[in-house]
Amino acid sequence: MRKKQKYVFSFGDGKAEGRAQMRNLLGGKGAGLHEMTRIGIPVPPGFTISTEVCTYYDSHDRRYPKELKDQVTAGLRVVEKVLKRQFGNSENPLLVSVRSGARESMPGMMDTVLNLGLNDRTVQGLIRRSNNRRFAFDSYRRFVQMYADVVLGIKGKKNDGDPLEAILERKKKLREARFDTDLSASDLEELVAEYKNEIRNHGEVFPEDPIEQLWGAIGAVFGSWNNDRAVAYRELYQIPHDWGTAVNVQAMVFGNLGDDCATGVAFTRDPGTGDRSFYGEFLINAQGEDVVAGIRTPRPIAELEQLMPSAAKELRRVCALLEKHYREMQDIEFTIEGGKLWMLQTRAGKRTGFAAVRIAVDMVEERIIGKKEALLRIQPDQLNQLLRPVFDRAGKQTAEKEGRFLGKGLAAGPGAASGRVVFNAEDAVEWKNRGERVVLCRIETSPDDIRGMDAAQGILTARGGMTSHATLVARQMGKVCVAGCEVLHVDYNGRVLRVGASELKEGEWISIDGSTGEVFRGEIQTLPSEVLQVLLTHTLEAKSSRVYQQFAKLMKWADEVRTLGVRTNADQPDQAAIAKAFGSEGIGLCRTEHMFFQGERIQAVREMILAEDEAGRRRALAKLLPMQKEDFKAILDIMGGLPVTIRTLDPPLHEFLPKTDEEISELAQVMDLPVEILRDKVNVLQEFNPMLGHRGCRLGISFPEITEMQAQAIFEAACELRRDGKNPFPEVMIPLVGSRPELHEQKQIVERVALATQKAYGVKVRYLIGTMIELPRACMVADEIAEEAEFFSFGTNDLTQTCLGLSRDDAGKFLPSYVLNGILPEDPFVSIDRDGVGALMKIAIKKGRKTRKTLEIGICGEHGGDPKSVVYCHQIGLDYVSCSPYRVAIARLAAAQAVLGERSS
Ligand code: ADP
Ligand code: MG
Ligand code: MG
Repeated sequence: MRKKQKYVFSFGDGKAEGRAQMRNLLGGKGAGLHEMTRIGIPVPPGFTISTEVCTYYDSHDRRYPKELKDQVTAGLRVVEKVLKRQFGNSENPLLVSVRSGARESMPGMMDTVLNLGLNDRTVQGLIRRSNNRRFAFDSYRRFVQMYADVVLGIKGKKNDGDPLEAILERKKKLREARFDTDLSASDLEELVAEYKNEIRNHGEVFPEDPIEQLWGAIGAVFGSWNNDRAVAYRELYQIPHDWGTAVNVQAMVFGNLGDDCATGVAFTRDPGTGDRSFYGEFLINAQGEDVVAGIRTPRPIAELEQLMPSAAKELRRVCALLEKHYREMQDIEFTIEGGKLWMLQTRAGKRTGFAAVRIAVDMVEERIIGKKEALLRIQPDQLNQLLRPVFDRAGKQTAEKEGRFLGKGLAAGPGAASGRVVFNAEDAVEWKNRGERVVLCRIETSPDDIRGMDAAQGILTARGGMTSHATLVARQMGKVCVAGCEVLHVDYNGRVLRVGASELKEGEWISIDGSTGEVFRGEIQTLPSEVLQVLLTHTLEAKSSRVYQQFAKLMKWADEVRTLGVRTNADQPDQAAIAKAFGSEGIGLCRTEHMFFQGERIQAVREMILAEDEAGRRRALAKLLPMQKEDFKAILDIMGGLPVTIRTLDPPLHEFLPKTDEEISELAQVMDLPVEILRDKVNVLQEFNPMLGHRGCRLGISFPEITEMQAQAIFEAACELRRDGKNPFPEVMIPLVGSRPELHEQKQIVERVALATQKAYGVKVRYLIGTMIELPRACMVADEIAEEAEFFSFGTNDLTQTCLGLSRDDAGKFLPSYVLNGILPEDPFVSIDRDGVGALMKIAIKKGRKTRKTLEIGICGEHGGDPKSVVYCHQIGLDYVSCSPYRVAIARLAAAQAVLGERSS
């Protein structure tokens, strides 16, 4: 007989059927509850229904595996036995929570029901047991309210909010109560009846039978895996839709039993800065979501020490134990009932990029983790936050002087942002799509706002603490955020923000500083971050910036581990300087054409393109030569002896042509040509499909004098530096090569110029000549091309276009829906398409190195700065990646992770 599948896993009384390693099956929350129980931490007993049931439920038309019912009943019996209470019993009722919990935490995206098991009979038992009528009816009305919302799906129309919440608000008004805690037992009892009425008005019935309640809630939690916000969240964070959620059924403990009760959340370290201080918030006489939902403003955890010293001490002990056990900063939920501490959740805490770096480095120094583990703990993209701008001090002072300071909230997400005020998520998305920068202003955010938060430059809320939804999500997204700025009155209907007598309407500019919590009217200029200031301007002493020091330490560890080189794409001397400051080991792509657009140069370029004959072209080229030479010289000089890969002219010529009538007639004058003739020439140069047209090495083959001039500029620059005792290292790169003869042609020109120039200057220069690999054909004949090329550099932007037959400039119309519908796993222009483009790259590497063992191979497409692609480049054996200057640190870390990941698998 088939062994019955186990779907239900019990925990309680120091024993647990699950453990931390079972998070795929039990979800993160479930695995945490089991593990905490196992190591002797006080956790209310309960059981977890595995994620497999969710998958089954989704694929079987919302039915359960047949074994489930008995297993759930058995699980319930265990809890009843531990607590000596019965589910549905009117003397001594067991109440439970029914909680969602997926493999990866998705804060607030799915549903939870508390106080389940209450009805008109069992509430009497709860009154007797607790001797506290107010508490019993508070729990009951909360349950009915949650059940209506989560299970019965009773919701108001958009933005009207929850109809039961409205009844609560009315009751509070009527009783002149400021908070829910001001309502009396009878008020709450009335609320229960009014809620049930409202439920009937919606054509639903509140079930009195606890077993029916339980299955209703279990179904709703499984169903919440597929609610809109959960789906949106998974898309944003690329969490697979087929993982499913687990359901945790757990005995209730009560933080709302009186003034020796509380509920709270805490972090074992500061999730904003990474500071080694215990960090959190709590509310006295409250339950569950109250802290996060911003119903009352919570108190800082330090106050707990005074109010409930022994529970506070126990909490510290448990937190220290958890951090030690998991060797990671934890984010915990707790409830204190009658002075006794109960733990309800633990998970690795989400943190800002600043905190991620600080915690990783500190934990190495505290000998909790090793350097390698520290490197693996940081998502490379998080380093971006350390480079995020801050407000210009003078701009801020002006704003203060002009009385534009509006107020101060909590510094919830570091960085500075200015944008136009919008009041809801849909507007944020819409305005962003129109090209506007916006700041999303809410009373408090909810999980429904996630897309809007993503679209906004920054988030500002009037209510909520450091553990509120807005803060949590901002931290994870790396968004600038100021939370709980209580002086703000947010009027959704009037679409206006009020602070005292002053007003900000929708669309007006506002500036928020997520590192200090300050809010200003109007726009404020921004400046580079602390780390950038040390790296680039040296206006800060490295010693005085702790952030910089820790960043530098981490980067050093990454460099010790990685084997992949990291270069930069830079076209101008100032960019080269930035790149070098970021630790770039060379330039992987210097696009010469970008130099052509500066100032007067474009005129000379146009003359060259439109010249009647070679002589005319040479005249124009002669004007360009000194300009290019100066640029090359500056870049080669800045980079010292590091390699600088210079690409010869690549884009289709018409990109440089005059477009307006005015430009054409101006040029006609310079060239002494009739306007009409010039216009004809311009038209002749237009192409139907320029990306596949007269560009790349094809230009140099049609007009060898262009390649010749560029080579001359490069080698004159290099020879002059060499003469001055420097050690320049140019690598000349011929673009869009598809066959060996093409490269051969161009290489001969470059060689000839290189030899002649060195001879003329009487020096020898180190240099290489190679090619960009960006056509499928080039990959297939890479062995032949390598006979000529001393290096390859994958131009993966074009290689992706040509391999997939997908125009980068037009794909925006349909590519997003391809990704959304799973036709493509992700945008191939963002992360390398391993099966297609990657396969071509592998062929080229193999063939290329077969011909030339020492062939140097790199990548200079946008993918060079994408952490996933960097890992891939390491795996397939590239020598280096080249990315934009601001992504160099990210690539260095990703390259280290590639090595560490390889070892651990
Ligand atoms: P989320 O994932 O949104 O945090 P949870 O399932 O953790 O949802 O629960 C929501 C809130 O209810 C949390 O504050 C949690 O601590 C509280 N809670 C959940 N189960 C219980 C319980 N058995 N007793 C007391 N409070 C609970
Ligand atoms: Mg929780
Ligand atoms: Mg290209």
